[in-house]
Amino acid sequence: MTIKPKISILYLDDELHNLESFKAAYRKDYTIFTTDDPEEAEEILKREEIQIVIADQRMPQITGVEFFEKIRSHHSEPVRILITGYTDIKAAIDSINRGEVFRFIDKPWDHDYVKTAIENAYDIYRTRKELRERNLQLEKAYNELDKFIYSASHDLRAPLMSILGIAQLAKLDTPFTRENIDNYLNLIEQSVKKLDTFILNIIDYYKNSRSGTEINSVDFKQLVEDIKDSFHFIPGNAEVRYDIKIEQEGEFYSDPVKLRIILNNLLGNALKYQKKDVSEKFIKIDIKSTPRKCFILVEDNGIGIGENDLENIFKMFFRGTSQNSGSGIGLYVVNEAVHKLNGNIKVSSTQNNGTTFSIEIPSTPKND
Ligand code: ADP
Repeated sequence: MTIKPKISILYLDDELHNLESFKAAYRKDYTIFTTDDPEEAEEILKREEIQIVIADQRMPQITGVEFFEKIRSHHSEPVRILITGYTDIKAAIDSINRGEVFRFIDKPWDHDYVKTAIENAYDIYRTRKELRERNLQLEKAYNELDKFIYSASHDLRAPLMSILGIAQLAKLDTPFTRENIDNYLNLIEQSVKKLDTFILNIIDYYKNSRSGTEINSVDFKQLVEDIKDSFHFIPGNAEVRYDIKIEQEGEFYSDPVKLRIILNNLLGNALKYQKKDVSEKFIKIDIKSTPRKCFILVEDNGIGIGENDLENIFKMFFRGTSQNSGSGIGLYVVNEAVHKLNGNIKVSSTQNNGTTFSIEIPSTPKND
């Protein structure tokens, strides 16, 4: 069963008994704010999330239509209903035609009519809100697609072009020695790995953004072990000391696929962005989980992130360094996944000293 949110209504009228009887009639069904002061009405609009504004047309300081015109630029979202007497009909029709007012209610009001007007106004409010949200999503998807096409044309093509170049070079290279062959094969291998990283990141992006959320019990120890094992053959992994502390108290429910994507990217980066020629390389993983929340900390003593780059690292296709063969998608996907799990992520870093990511994610109730 879906619980209907309580509609919040602001009612402005100079006649106090109207305000009182409105409140008495609808208090149970709606959250009602009333005032006879137009300035206070504006204050309420600033302070509260109002969905419907009702105003009387005839008031001493300002007419209802003038009030709507005044609030329109700053509070365009609430749907407006005008209360009029018979003599104000023309003003009411004008304002409806100009789009200022959704509907008018004539005095004395009929209880059922007012209720229907409020319910209809709320439908309009909700539909507009959904439309705005869909538009934002669409805009985001469009921007992502734009960036994707731009980046894919470069990132997919660049390694292919270098393989082609290596093949052409190899053809010209005679005599063909064992050493030459090894050199060419190593170069080809590097290009193929670059291409593979890009494709794997795109798969993660797709898994995170298109698939829904599947909630299951999470075993953090197993998750970290699996990811660490998958790094076994990555060059440089053997030189890094892993300092792992996992305290899991009771069951934690979340989407294990998204958590794997998050940890895989953070640990992968912690390994990838280690300083060269340093003897004490470490990656610290600290996870505390309770049945309500989990805290994840991933720290490294690698190359760190410059202050100017720090605000950009979660943007799609942003790369702070050309030192490595990254795609610039990893942290974008991490950030999206953390937010889909209703969590938050913070980063602190000092260039040449290391980086720490800290994440907090609430447990999601399992819906079987
Ligand atoms: P990439 O594929 O380039 O690694 P990410 O989205 O994962 O893309 O990261 C974006 C940028 O953030 C990287 O290019 C890098 O400059 C920086 N970065 C991310 N993690 C770290 C880290 N642990 N240490 C240093 N720099 C990092």
